[in-house]
Parts: sequence; C-alpha cells; structure tokens
Amino acid sequence: MTEVLSHVDYMALEEAHSSGVYAKRALTVVRGEGAYLWDADGRRYIDCVGGQGAANVGHAHPKVVAAIQAQARVLISCPELFYNDQRALLLQKLTQLAGMPRAFLCNSGAEAVEAALKFAKFATGRTHIVAAMRGFHGRTMGALSATWEPKYREPFAPLVPNYTHVPFNDLAAAAAAISEQTAAVIVEVVQGEGGVRPASGDYLRGLQALCHERGALFIIDEVQTGFGRTGRMFAHQHYDLSPDLMPVAKSIAGGLPFGACLIGERVGQLQPAIHGTTFGGNPLGCAAARAAIDVLIEENLPARAAALGDFLMARLGDLPQRFRAHVREVRGLGLLFGIELRGKVAPVLKALQSKGILALPAGLTVLRLLPPLVISQADLEQVAQAIEAVLDELSADEA
Ligand code: PMP
Repeated sequence: MTEVLSHVDYMALEEAHSSGVYAKRALTVVRGEGAYLWDADGRRYIDCVGGQGAANVGHAHPKVVAAIQAQARVLISCPELFYNDQRALLLQKLTQLAGMPRAFLCNSGAEAVEAALKFAKFATGRTHIVAAMRGFHGRTMGALSATWEPKYREPFAPLVPNYTHVPFNDLAAAAAAISEQTAAVIVEVVQGEGGVRPASGDYLRGLQALCHERGALFIIDEVQTGFGRTGRMFAHQHYDLSPDLMPVAKSIAGGLPFGACLIGERVGQLQPAIHGTTFGGNPLGCAAARAAIDVLIEENLPARAAALGDFLMARLGDLPQRFRAHVREVRGLGLLFGIELRGKVAPVLKALQSKGILALPAGLTVLRLLPPLVISQADLEQVAQAIEAVLDELSADEA
C-alpha cells in the first residue's frame, strides 16, 4: 500500500529532494483519464497540457493499459542484442505508418534527435548542421546545439561546433547557409516550444529541394507534431514532404517513455556499434506503442484533431479583434494551438487553473493548448469560455 499524504506534503517532498531544474505549479496531479486530470484533493481539471504532448490518445487509455499489463507479465526488458516479437511487430507498424523503411528505437525526444544528428553526420561524412531560429529539439548536448533559445544554451557553452541557426520561414537565408559541408537541415513543421509557429508549405518544400540539390539530409523533428497532433498522422504529410530522418517521441507509446528516429532511403546503410541504447526497443514500450498506434488509427484521432482544431480556430480566431489590448495573434495547426498575448502568459495560466483548466506556455507570452486528441468538443467549448473570461477579467482590471 502506498502511504497517502496530503497535497502539501507531496509538494514539500519534491521541493526538498528534486533536482531544482523545474519551475512547478502548486498542483499535485495523481490520476488521469481521457482528457481529465485529478489533483490530490480530488478536484478534476480539463487537461490542455496533455502530458506536454505525450497524451494524444488520452490518459490511461484502456487499450494501452491492457497492452502494458499483458506485456509486463511476459517480458519487460530485452536489449537489441536479441530479436524480440513485440519489437519486430512495432517496427513493421511504425515504418508502415511513416512510409519510411527503417527506425532506431529509443526513449525520449532528445534521444531521437541525437540519433538523427549522428546518423546524418555518419551517412554524409559531413560535419555541419543547419537549424532554425526559435527551433526546439531537446536538451542533450547535440540536440541542445540545434535548439535556439539562448537561455537553454548559454550556461552550457561550448556546445557542439558547426551548428548554424537561420531565420525560420526564410528560404533565402537557408539557401545561403546550406553548403557542401552541411550534413543535415533540421526543422519543425510547427515550432511548438518556440511559440506555436507554423512553417509555410513553400518554405518546407524549398528546404527539402535544397537538401536534395546539395547532398544534405532533411530532418523533420516530429517529436511534438507527430501522432495526429496537427490533424494528420505526421505534420509533414500536410505538405507531401519526405524527410530523410524523422525523430518522434511523446505520444508514440500512449504516455510511456519511448522514442524513435525514422530513417529514409537517402540515409543508406548504418553500421553496427555506431549508436545504441540499453532500453531502446524494450518490449514493454514496444507493446505500448503498438497499442497506441492502433488507437490513433481505430479512433481516427488525426481527423478528430483536425476537426477540433477547426472548431477552436472558429471559436477563438477572432480574439485579436475582440481583445485587442491583450491578444496579438492566434495560430495553430490541428490541436497544436497558440494564443500570443501582448503581456506575460504566467498569470493567464494561473487564472485558467483556478477555473479548472490546465494549459501550457510556449515562451513567455504564448498560451499553448495541447489537449489529448480524445477531448470532447463540449470540454473545448468550456476551455474557450474560460479563456474569454480570463481575458475579460484582465480588461476589467485595467478599466
Ligand atoms: N523536439 C521537439 C520538437 C520537442 O517539442 C521536444 C520536447 N518538447 C523535444 C524535441 C525533446 O523531447 P524530450 O523532452 O522527450 O527529450
């Protein structure tokens, strides 16, 4: 039996013993189901944090839970020095889903990005990486070198050499930066952490063409946009793109820590021992991922994300007109939705929480919604009303 402590006790324990690298909200979350979370006092919240993108199929989806329970009884760990039934079947399912022939399996988004960067250098024999301003790719040293935000980077200099950041959505700038030394260009279809900023289709198609022309590999980071989030299974499918390397993670395994780097034909043959990880392709994660992918397909969740994204945009797209003093822009693709404020987002997040809604920031001024794709339209309507109420309160405070 787990000892039951109060909400305040759990907070105090974490404050005393956690690393200190996270700024946390005063909320202890103990249970989830679908698009709802409950705190230690039994209060229910509508969840627009969505496990920071890891909960696309909803919390505790029964099919994912059943797959984890069944596999946990059979075999949890099995390194890739052996073959494994769950891994074989997941690799088949995942590569079919992505339309890319091979995949490296790992445990997180940063690891999937590290793999993509290493494979690009290995396959091309080149040393330079081109990334985008405001891009986010993770916090391990290689992924961090591709990440733009100075406050994440500066304490850890020197980073990996030969990374160049170019303005996002500016093809001429990319054309000037991609050279015969460029191993890869890495970009997001919608910059998630960087403020919910969609790339244009022309920009992405142009980047892909430049990569082909100059012998570089094209890495599309779908860690946040993958598995239905933007209204397609993978966001690059909106624009008919063919990435050479595609890191994915977050919702791949229904919330269990898991990731993958999909590998395209242009990468060629990789060799044993150039990369690897103990837990990569572990049977428990593979079983969960097989179940999560089945749920995404059976419940038609990418199409649901597209329809609900349209609903939210119809409902909140005119916030900049209605709340001119507080809202600069509303942007998004599917259920990756951002509201850029004129002021700080922190007090808005706090006010939403007091109304029973959990949401995310993206930088200092953007309110980001990443609900599970199973969320109901009625709950999204409640979210929209709560956002309007908070903006009304801000306006009233100033009057
Ligand atoms: N790439 C992108 C686009 C991301 O959004 C994130 C996480 N927010 C990462 C990489 C890193 O993933 P992880 O936190 O699992 O390491």
